[in-house]
Amino acid sequence: MASSSGYSSSPCAACKFLRRKCLPDCIFAPYFPPEEPQKFANVHKIFGASNVSKLLNEVLPHQREDTVNSLAYEAEARLKDPVYGCVGAISVLQRQVIRLQKELEATNADLIQYTCREMPSTVSRPVHYRRKNNNNMVQVYGDGGFDQNCGGYYHPNAWSNVHDGDGQEGDDGGM
Ligand SMILES: [Zn+2]
Repeated sequence: MASSSGYSSSPCAACKFLRRKCLPDCIFAPYFPPEEPQKFANVHKIFGASNVSKLLNEVLPHQREDTVNSLAYEAEARLKDPVYGCVGAISVLQRQVIRLQKELEATNADLIQYTCREMPSTVSRPVHYRRKNNNNMVQVYGDGGFDQNCGGYYHPNAWSNVHDGDGQEGDDGGM
């Protein structure tokens, strides 16, 4: 962002805002170009220029751009939502993730049910029976017929978490 000509022609957004001379070693210049005055104004209002300068000096040069970008993001969020700032956005997204996970689980359960209904006769065992313990699971999958078809078809999506979790079922390949 900061070209060498930037130093001579116009001060960076920070120095312009603070009405001071922008020196060639200005810590703000590479990250607050004069074309983005609002970026520094936001960050200064929320964190204060001296805190920002201190933060930038504490991180390695290659991390400074990310630091400034996250400060700018946080500052903008805090200005929009003075109470929660970006935590507000994070908690909205977390709630959304939980809701979508539940929705996905319900949809997967529905899929299993619908597939089971479409299979001819032998619809007897409830789904949870197959999950009682490892032995039951292996036995039922190995029985062939309805359970094998039903369980086997949806296994990769619906049961992957269960299988990743206990890591004891090596017999799944038999389906
Ligand atoms: Zn400057």
